[in-house]
Amino acid sequence: MKRRILSACLILTLVLVMVGTVTAAPKSKIIHVSRESKVFAIGAESKPIAKANPGDILVVETEDCFDNQVRTPEDVIESVDFDRVNPATGPIYIEGAEPGDTLVVDILSIDVAKQGVMVALPGLGVLADEVQNPTIKILPIKDNRVIWDENWSFTIKPMIGVIGVTPKGEPISCGTPDDHGGNMDTAEIGAGCRVNLPVNVEGAMLHLGDVHATQGDGEVCGTGVECRAVVTLRVDVKKNTGLERPVLEKDNRIMFMASHVDLFTATQIATKEAVNFLMQAKGLSFEEAYILASAIADIKISQLVDPLLTVRAELDLSGL
Ligand code: CA
Ligand code: CA
Repeated sequence: MKRRILSACLILTLVLVMVGTVTAAPKSKIIHVSRESKVFAIGAESKPIAKANPGDILVVETEDCFDNQVRTPEDVIESVDFDRVNPATGPIYIEGAEPGDTLVVDILSIDVAKQGVMVALPGLGVLADEVQNPTIKILPIKDNRVIWDENWSFTIKPMIGVIGVTPKGEPISCGTPDDHGGNMDTAEIGAGCRVNLPVNVEGAMLHLGDVHATQGDGEVCGTGVECRAVVTLRVDVKKNTGLERPVLEKDNRIMFMASHVDLFTATQIATKEAVNFLMQAKGLSFEEAYILASAIADIKISQLVDPLLTVRAELDLSGL
């Protein structure tokens, strides 16, 4: 029993070292950020539209993924300007964040608009070649449910599609996920999720958008229930972690994110992160940790429809 308690303490310590602790700043502020200030790509030249200190709470308005161009069933998809898809509100400069640090983002709540939109388009999603007729589905959202038609509705599970920081190197479209975060389209990124992002530039430059009222793993048709939203979150900075790619924490689980054009390669990257974690947490050799990962890590698909595909390796910390 003593050994298990020591082991649990070591794992907790490792998690805290990796992703930091959220410490309420003595004078934390609530900062409102309008959806009027948005970017379609993020890079070193992007100028901040707001500044926050560690511990501050941000109330961020987000635009929907079509930049509000599709609002009624009569709208035609051909008239949508696809240079304006996936806007992200930001970037927001976080004081004290420097390259090599972790930006810690705690998602406190997501309030979605009263309507969402989904589309099926030729060339979009995992059955891209089978779509004959471009179709728009306008979905009212009422009492925390998506109204499919007069006979049926389903529960919302709001999540953030795009959340990231300025990447290393060249600017990246907000439609692409990568090691900086971005368009990860991961259903787990909802209220109660802690998103840990690697800081690549001073101020980190947080940006977010593309909220879905709900979305299944995979996002098979290429859209979730796309909607405007107001996201409330808290930011913090953990110094000198050397984090390389996004890590999520939620409900006593830790999730190692990886995006790559090849699904198997993405799976390899996420698996290796989980194995590295187990090596440190349990004091195991690579081979032992690899075996343990095969027993207790779950590899899950976040999305299959963006320029890079996103998978996650999940570990239940309560079982370790
Ligand atoms: Ca998306
Ligand atoms: Ca979306």
